[in-house]
Amino acid sequence: MSDLTTLQHFIGGTWVEPASGEYFESTNPATLEVLYRAARGNAADIEKAVAAARKVFEDPRWRDLSQTRRGHLLRRLGDLIAENAEDLARMETQDNGKLLREMRGQLAALPEYYYYYAGLADKIHGDFIPTSDRQVLNYTAREPLGVVGAITPWNSPLTLTSSKLAPALCAGNTVVIKPSEYTSATVLKLAELALEAGFPSGAVNVVTGFGAEAGQALVDHRDLAKISFTGSTATGARIAAATASRFIGSTLELGGKSPNIVFEDANLPNAAMGVVAGIFAAAGQTCIAGSRVFAHRSVYDELLERVSERARTIRIGDPMDEKTELGPLAFEGQRDKVAGYVDLGRGEGARVLTGGRATDGGLGGWFYEPTVLVDVDNSMRVVREEIFGPVLAVMPFDTEEEVVRLANDTEYGLAAGVWTTNLARAHRMAARLDAGTVWVNTYRAMSPMSPRQGFKTSGVGVEHGTETILEYTRLKSVWINTSEEPVADPFTMRS
Ligand code: NAD
Repeated sequence: MSDLTTLQHFIGGTWVEPASGEYFESTNPATLEVLYRAARGNAADIEKAVAAARKVFEDPRWRDLSQTRRGHLLRRLGDLIAENAEDLARMETQDNGKLLREMRGQLAALPEYYYYYAGLADKIHGDFIPTSDRQVLNYTAREPLGVVGAITPWNSPLTLTSSKLAPALCAGNTVVIKPSEYTSATVLKLAELALEAGFPSGAVNVVTGFGAEAGQALVDHRDLAKISFTGSTATGARIAAATASRFIGSTLELGGKSPNIVFEDANLPNAAMGVVAGIFAAAGQTCIAGSRVFAHRSVYDELLERVSERARTIRIGDPMDEKTELGPLAFEGQRDKVAGYVDLGRGEGARVLTGGRATDGGLGGWFYEPTVLVDVDNSMRVVREEIFGPVLAVMPFDTEEEVVRLANDTEYGLAAGVWTTNLARAHRMAARLDAGTVWVNTYRAMSPMSPRQGFKTSGVGVEHGTETILEYTRLKSVWINTSEEPVADPFTMRS
């Protein structure tokens, strides 16, 4: 990296100072120590980055590179991430406060994203179409789109960036990334590793800065072929409108308010652990957080007892410490948002069974206790809106029919969990839940091999799996006349 304390943009394979000359600070949310200054990007920086990406996209050395060779480069990038995994995990933990052991787990899995798309790179191809006119050869080709813009949030910076970068490069595009203003460091390092892996200078560019400045300028850039965005539903809606008006594609991975449903026939100790993992892992700062729990009335009390007992004993503290179980919220505004929602819930009539207070974690940071809310229902804002923190709402239900209705009564449709030992019920629920991912007797399982899609306001388009390649390519249909016959006069009636 150019400098440990001052980070520049990474454009065209080199470190570039911001056009404005301005920088912003990133703070460790556990200790409030200032970690580094990063370049404050604006439209002029985006202009440079898109131009650099466009230049590579049009360069025959990239355009005509064999797909097998593109696969090699992705594999090499995966290897380099594996070699740098510990440093990257530590950097992410310092930047966003997630537990070091969770970031180590994410970094250990991250090379697989690149290996998966490395294997796919030489399997992208069109098709032969046997139309009724056998004199005409019709085939399709899958072409890269051009310059892809990737805009990502702070909660899992490298993983969420890689969900876009790996398939975009695999399909032959070039990329400009605008990471979250709260987590710039590791994404810059990733771009540097891509260069080291052998991707041409300018194939992967990073402009750091704020959403309203660098992000908006990227979305508005006329040479952009697509935006792939992960973040809030509100920002996603703005991006969807902007891209639709310019007829360019967008893949949007947005918010959630996912139900975790515990039936009377569930293995309760397992279900309780699944509920705890679903909401308190990563301090609830995951899009797929199981923030609404529906427990069958016959097991409601026992489940609550198990979950709140574990919530009370969760070890809050330094995320770098292997023994810590809950780190801080990523920034002060996020901590205040969570605290505000719990107060709002109290005002709406919710009862705080456990937690419900901000704390400094003994380190001066932006922590919030694991919180369980009861006496809540689907009409309340704490049940309807995404809090993105360690706040769980628990509600009883009586019948399968009823819980399907309650679980689906949300604007979101990202994920859902079901806890049951009844196989038939598991399949019925998987079919009836209005969510792009359904987990049965587990929660938070994920793989770059498995497609994921947000339903309703949780997103548009698919990430991961082979399906996402369709989102990073365009389909061309080619017709070739193979006949030596003269081309008929179009105004002569065929007999
Ligand atoms: P956010 O929408 O505030 O910001 C996300 C990114 O968009 C940041 O890089 C930000 O700078 C940028 N941005 C903000 N305004 C912009 C604009 N007008 N134009 C262009 N870019 C802009 O979201 P966040 O607070 O960083 O992340 C949390 C949200 O992300 C939650 O809602 C969470 O559910 C969602 N999320 C979704 C997934 C998923 O896969 N569905 C995964 C992780 C997080």
